[in-house]
Parts: sequence; C-alpha cells; structure tokens
Amino acid sequence: MALVSIVVPCYNEEESMPVFYKEVTGVLKKMNVDYEIIFVDDGSKDKTLDVAKRLRKQDDKVRYISFSRNFGKEAGMLAGLEAAKGDYVAVMDADMQDPPSLLPEMYEAVTTGGYDCAATRRTNRKGEPPIRSFFARMFYRIINKISDANIVDGARDFRLMKRIMVDAVLSLGEYNRFSKGIFGWVGFKTKWFEYVNVERVAGETKWSFWKLFKYSFEGIMAFSTTPLYISSFMGFIVCIVSFIMACFYAIKALIFGDPAAGFPTIVCIMLFLGGIQLIGIGVVGMYLSKTYLETKRRPIYIIRESEDNEENVTN
Ligand code: UDP
Ligand code: MG
Repeated sequence: MALVSIVVPCYNEEESMPVFYKEVTGVLKKMNVDYEIIFVDDGSKDKTLDVAKRLRKQDDKVRYISFSRNFGKEAGMLAGLEAAKGDYVAVMDADMQDPPSLLPEMYEAVTTGGYDCAATRRTNRKGEPPIRSFFARMFYRIINKISDANIVDGARDFRLMKRIMVDAVLSLGEYNRFSKGIFGWVGFKTKWFEYVNVERVAGETKWSFWKLFKYSFEGIMAFSTTPLYISSFMGFIVCIVSFIMACFYAIKALIFGDPAAGFPTIVCIMLFLGGIQLIGIGVVGMYLSKTYLETKRRPIYIIRESEDNEENVTN
C-alpha cells in the first residue's frame, strides 16, 4: 500500500489541530492508503506542541517536529517535506482552509490520472479586504511577467505531490525560500483543483498587510532579476534625456544668450537624479542582502524536539 504523508505547518493552532486531525483521519481512512500526519510546530506560543504530543500518544501515525523558535511557514513546510517518508506528500494548513474532502480526488489524479502533482487554487477572495485582493492580483500579474516561476493566481500551498517532485523541491537548497515560486519553477505535470475560499475554523490569520507586502517583494526577488534591469534601464533613459536637454540649453544659450536663470530647473533635475540613484542602489542592495544571507549557509530551521528525541528534553 502506498504511504501518504500529510505535512501540517502549525503556528499557534491549538484549537484547530484536533478538528483538523479528526477530519483528515476520517478522509484518509476511507482512502485505502497507509498514511502519516506530520505536525510541524513552528515555535508556537500556545499549547500546539502539547496537542501534537497528545495526538501522537493516541495515534502513532501522527508525527511531530517542534522548532526552537518561530521560523515561518516556509521553514515549517521544508522541515515537514524533509521528514516525510511518503510516496506521496501533501502540504496542508491546520486551520481547515484546505478542505480535506478534496484529498481522494487529488490522490486519484497523481496515482491513476497521470499527473505528478495535484494543486489547489481558490476561486474567490471572500472575507478579504478589497485593497489586499487588489494588491494580490497585481503581484501575480507582475511576477508572472518578469519571472519563469509560473505562479497561478489564488494558488494555495495545499498540494499533493509525487515523491519525484518532492525530491525536486528539496533539491533547491536556497535560504530565501518562496514556495509558491519553487513549486512552479520545478515544473512537472500539475492538475489544478478549484474551491471556494473557506474561513479558518479557529484562531486568526498570521498575515498582516505589511507582512504580505514584504513577502511579495521577496518572492519577486527570489525568482526574477528584472528589477536590476529596470534600474539600469531607468539610468539609460535619464542619460538620454539629460543629453537632449544639454543640447537644447547649449543651442538656446548660443542663440538667445544666457541670462543665468534656471535655479528651479537645476533643483528639480538634482532631486530627480538623486531619487533614481537611490532607487537603483536600493534594488542592488536588496539583491546583495539576499546573497549575503545565502552565503552564510545558515540552517533554515532548528529542531528543538521531535517524536524521536522527546526524552532528551525536560518540559
Ligand atoms: N504558519 C506557520 N508559521 C508561521 C505562520 C503560519 O507554520 O509563522 C502556519 C499556520 O499555522 C497555518 C498556515 O501556516 O497552518 C497558514 O497560515 P494562515 O492561516 O495564517 O495563513 P492564511 O490561510 O491566512 O493565508
Ligand atoms: Mg489560513
């Protein structure tokens, strides 16, 4: 029988986890597969780890990993994918926003359907502030234009992958991990499942507008170097404009003489050029900072405790 691993990154999800566990187990039991559920406690401040341990005690198909601090969902997914032993591996949120009822269809797609991956996207953004939806749409449009990551609008991280794709995802050893991009970048035949957005069962979202904004910038930088070209291009345009202006003023001075006016013009030009230079340096700096973090080769997460070494830790 095939082994299906379910990877669940959890940050402060003590209330959602039992509901999630019950629902997912119910679905998996009907599917005629062997399974494991891996809860990755991402340095939660509530009882998430205790809940994971309790579930582990009840059911040895449950596994858990607990980080030494909050490393973010990307790190949680990575740790889970690395720990997963399954022939098929799914990533799911703990908050029930990823309906487990889709699992059987997704499993069918990757087993008999000839696909390597079954991915999901939500078709609406109900319950989300309109301004956030607007920026999200813009982000998808931009990143798909300027990178070859091929990111689908509304794509969730909820997906079921064959082992071969999981290994491909794990072979990308970068520190700045932008999973939405990585999943698209590795390619493979993907079948998309659509569903209507569901609100989370308990707790609250960990994303503020600002965090999402930062995340989207990181995504663009991780998968595209176009911003660097744009800043060079801007420099080029400004050079041409300044050359034309120089000719214009030279000819004007020759014909009409030079009354030595033009202070406002100079201030405007200086400010404009200063701004463009700062933007350019900022863009270069952002890439440099990412390179700096990559070259440090720091681990992406640190495990404090897992089902294999719980006796080492006194709580
Ligand atoms: N999550 C995590 N680490 C974090 C933030 C979130 O592991 O630092 C988990 C969280 O517990 C949940 C999933 O990532 O299972 C998605 O988070 P959330 O529901 O807040 O995101 P949304 O569904 O609103 O995009
Ligand atoms: Mg959620």
